[in-house]
Amino acid sequence: MNLERYTHKLEKIKEAGNYRKLRNIQHNGFLIHDAGREMLNLSSNDYLGLSSYPKLLEEFYEQTDVKALPYSAVSSRLLSGNHEYYGMLETDLADLYAKEAALVFTSGYHANIGILPALTSKRDLIIADKLVHASLIDGMRLSEAEMLRYHHLDTEHLRSLLKQHREKYENVFIVTESVFSMDGDLADLQELCEIKKEFEAFLYVDEAHAVGVRGTNGLGCSEEQACIEDIDFIVGTFGKAFASMGAFVVCRELFKAFLVNTQRSLIFTTALPPINVAWTRFVLNHMPDFYELRIKLAHTADQLRKVLVDNGFETRGNSHIVPFLCGSNESSVEMAELLRDNGFFALPVRYPTVPKNEARIRFSLNAAIPAEDYECLFEFLGCLE
Ligand SMILES: *Cc1c(COP(=O)(O)O)cnc(C)c1O
Repeated sequence: MNLERYTHKLEKIKEAGNYRKLRNIQHNGFLIHDAGREMLNLSSNDYLGLSSYPKLLEEFYEQTDVKALPYSAVSSRLLSGNHEYYGMLETDLADLYAKEAALVFTSGYHANIGILPALTSKRDLIIADKLVHASLIDGMRLSEAEMLRYHHLDTEHLRSLLKQHREKYENVFIVTESVFSMDGDLADLQELCEIKKEFEAFLYVDEAHAVGVRGTNGLGCSEEQACIEDIDFIVGTFGKAFASMGAFVVCRELFKAFLVNTQRSLIFTTALPPINVAWTRFVLNHMPDFYELRIKLAHTADQLRKVLVDNGFETRGNSHIVPFLCGSNESSVEMAELLRDNGFFALPVRYPTVPKNEARIRFSLNAAIPAEDYECLFEFLGCLE
């Protein structure tokens, strides 16, 4: 046995300034306590602040016989785990998106590592944006299909790759996110819909950071860009703005039936706890009500980007995820420490997760944080060198 291999690798990670530890964090709404310090949590995915919205929880408890809902499904959906709330949630999702069908999964990770491998074979091609999430990359690795990547958001590159390669394959899947979590930038979904039609491909859009946040009713960028109908697979997670757990795809009935029969990450895992599915469905049905929160979130993000630019810093994107570029890994780590010392919890994202010398602080905004608290952050940023 060789243990030295693991210590050596960990040393390498430390030398590169990338060593990670699990923090012991206490939560109090949008505040967190870490090592005796109270800080604003600017690193969560609780974009609407629903995880600590007492009125919403109270209403859920009033409407729901929670004592009748188990904390575990105790088996897969394909065995006896398919509690009735699953079907109700899927019907609501399909109705909201006006799609034929919806299918719910244990997490976004389960959805993304399972759907593409189930639907593709050696005769197919998956062509994905260069910056798609690790779960999609793992899904592509598990798939038998050929895989190509196009430059981030570069639809001309995508077109040229399709021109070159489309003919060789039976089915082609174009894969993108809608809001990308490193730069907070957005895919042009309408353009991708044009391309998928032109090249007779399927379009798969991961809206993990956009569901709840974008679109009048919170259905995501596909709603905002009015192209729900044309997207073959819209994936969303319930673990972010929904303040819950789980994920979904909306798609054709045919694909739902196919996934139920073949998707390993659906079949070979325990179903979500019924209590959790009931909460998700409750939140889903309230999503249209949170329009004001979505507007507030977008406004705060605009303000933060402006403050950064006005103070000579580089930022990017057009969403509630706002990067603050620092340069080297070390400077992003130092900036994160300085932020923490001043009561702001925002984590650095370093090379190799992002390109070299593009290490950054990633501000992940939350609509529940009061404007005064954001003002303190803006003031702090205004006083930096
Ligand atoms: C968070 C995330 C996922 C994973 O979703 P979970 O429900 O947390 O497993 C998938 N895709 C993207 C783009 C994400 O940001």
